[in-house]
Amino acid sequence: MRDDHLQRLVFEEINARCIWVQLDGVTRAVLSRADYPPLVADQLARALLVTATMSSGIKFDGRITLQLQSAGPVSLLMADCDHDGGVRGLARLQEDAELPSSESALFEALADDGTLALTVEPARHGRRWQGIVPIEGGSVEQALESYFRQSEQLPTRIRLAFDGDRASALMIQRMPGETSDEDGWNRLEHLVDTLGDQEMLAAEGEEVLRRLFHAEQRRIFPARELHFHCPCTRERVAVVLQGLGQSELQALAAEQEVVEVRCEFCNEGYRFDQVDLAALIQGGEPDDSPTVH
Ligand SMILES: [Zn+2]
Repeated sequence: MRDDHLQRLVFEEINARCIWVQLDGVTRAVLSRADYPPLVADQLARALLVTATMSSGIKFDGRITLQLQSAGPVSLLMADCDHDGGVRGLARLQEDAELPSSESALFEALADDGTLALTVEPARHGRRWQGIVPIEGGSVEQALESYFRQSEQLPTRIRLAFDGDRASALMIQRMPGETSDEDGWNRLEHLVDTLGDQEMLAAEGEEVLRRLFHAEQRRIFPARELHFHCPCTRERVAVVLQGLGQSELQALAAEQEVVEVRCEFCNEGYRFDQVDLAALIQGGEPDDSPTVH
């Protein structure tokens, strides 16, 4: 069993960085909570990998979110990762939509008029930051590479591998500024291109990185653990219900004896009975009845 983690390397002379992510457990946890068609599960796994990879850039307490939105059969692919390495994600499908039968056709449908958004939200102080670009390319990898080209002008190569069970990502990126090794970036790109999916999935990251970059001078930073985590709570769900407004809540209470809300990310169920609903309608706090799994 491989441990989920993120590993960062820096090639100082080339002025580039490398990020490795393995996310077997998180991907299994996310995919086990919903019944996604295999092609959608595959795209969601890639979105989880990319988001975990991007999280290496967060230098404060907060959360990074990736959203791929489209008017096609897969209307939303979403994943987020917090500073503690807590990762979650979901896919939303259009009702009754017919899914394309191949991976490339599915991504094409997603890219058609679709947008890719990266959002960074500090947990407490500071401004929320968001970058949005049209989805380009034929895969999640290419869409992200295009994002970096357009928004940050940083040459980037991303490799993602998922076999239905194990999931790994490798990203190399040029950093802004000069390099004392002009050919270095080309060498790194070439090395990354030689890496096979099986190699990325069969071994621990440390071994993959050592084999791949053995001839390059590099600095390795301590690995960071990643795990599945959904921050939903009964209180947060109550706030969302209250946001519906009094009349909507009253209608809901009249219609249903017990209102059950399921978190779309983790499938946790939260039940609100008539007493809870009455409290919400009056703007009070709901009592602490137990949650239902
Ligand atoms: Zn949840």
